[in-house]
Amino acid sequence: MGFFSKGITLPKRQLVTSLTLIDTPVPDTVVLPLRQYIGQPSQAAVSVGDTVTTGQIISECTDAACLPVHATISGTVTDISAHRDPRGSMTESVTIESDGTDTWIEPPEARDTALDTTDILDRIRSSGLIAKGLLPVPLDTDLAPIDQPKTHLYLNGTDIKKRIDTLIINCLDAEPSLGVNRYLAGMEHSSLPCGIDALKRITGAQRVIFAVDKHVAPSSQLKDMVKNDEEEATSIVTVNGRRYPAALPIVLVNTVLAREIPLPYGHPRDVGAAVYDIETVISIAEAVTGGTAQVDTMITIGGDAMAKQGIARVRIGVSIGSLIDSLGGLRADAAKIILGGPMTGMAHYDLATPITKEVTGLFAMTREQIQLSTGYRECINCGMCVKVCPVNLLPGIISLYCAKDKFDLAEAAGLFSCIECGACDYVCPSRRPLVHLFRHAKNQLME
Ligand code: SF4
Ligand code: SF4
Repeated sequence: MGFFSKGITLPKRQLVTSLTLIDTPVPDTVVLPLRQYIGQPSQAAVSVGDTVTTGQIISECTDAACLPVHATISGTVTDISAHRDPRGSMTESVTIESDGTDTWIEPPEARDTALDTTDILDRIRSSGLIAKGLLPVPLDTDLAPIDQPKTHLYLNGTDIKKRIDTLIINCLDAEPSLGVNRYLAGMEHSSLPCGIDALKRITGAQRVIFAVDKHVAPSSQLKDMVKNDEEEATSIVTVNGRRYPAALPIVLVNTVLAREIPLPYGHPRDVGAAVYDIETVISIAEAVTGGTAQVDTMITIGGDAMAKQGIARVRIGVSIGSLIDSLGGLRADAAKIILGGPMTGMAHYDLATPITKEVTGLFAMTREQIQLSTGYRECINCGMCVKVCPVNLLPGIISLYCAKDKFDLAEAAGLFSCIECGACDYVCPSRRPLVHLFRHAKNQLME
């Protein structure tokens, strides 16, 4: 078992209460932002009045930092204009009204899985997959230079070229409140071996480790993969998934492999590891074998104000409001609607905001589940934030520099090593808005 002693343990009332699959209908309308990741937006390749089929490409890309967008329902394009996206930005978006038939485009001919790495990456890209997480980027760009570590790793003037030796398949969720990966880790997936094989070929990893939550029994498929591996290069490591942020790659690599990712700007590949969610591995397999476009995404539905809780596969572009309606509406007065998890997600007031690829959860929290802001007080040097920080920073000290606009001192104290997990915020008895101060300082320094 991997051991992670820092971070926080969330109370049960903040966790999703069920990991069962909830049915959701094909929506009547979708709004598809032309950027659903960190990178450049794509350009609309359809016009108002055009008819489209599910899976059809409706935008084109100008560079590698951009991904094509696919129609997620069949129908008519009724609008192309800026809409609020899950990050709160106004982003050019294509609106499609359904024709009620959900007619799919003919998928490309299924090929065998013996593709070379360039073909695999092409398929991943044309399916529109992203790497979900704190920094959602087009998946192919995250994978592409994986055997070439970032160039900031210099030793005596020499680039360190460390090859990937281990593929960690993350069966935990970014936050304990989320549940998609834990749900998938308990199921059998015929496509899983193909996804693992594709990732091993791209990364060059020989060893595979499934990092699973100790509270959720892994499927017999995972256990069989370990048992049947004659080279003994596949294993399962259990981690306390209720501890936050145990599942973030920077922490997970340290917990599972005892390798420390250099910060700031470090990546698992810098220490010879590749970390991908089990959800991503299955999506890669589907892209490689079927070449189908990503038109839906799996998210966690949680919060006591939600009529149903569980795991839902939803069409990309459905609005928060219509998804909540299709799930039976809100059971009690919702005090806060959050896209993402309660720790790192973003509160939304506009229920027309669409669910996009980067969204991991939809939570409707009651007043009892949230802490309302009542202003913050001076730092009392209690050290609670230091105790929980997973990357060993002094959040209280850095926040004092940030609050006094001494951004250079904050940077020297490790500001950019902060992964914005929010654990320090959560425990601070003075209710100091630490992550908010850090984000503001980072923005000021980057400008
Ligand atoms: S300083 Fe950053 S990394 Fe450390 S606990 Fe706070 S938010 Fe997390
Ligand atoms: S937890 Fe809050 S009050 Fe305590 S040292 Fe950190 S910033 Fe200061």
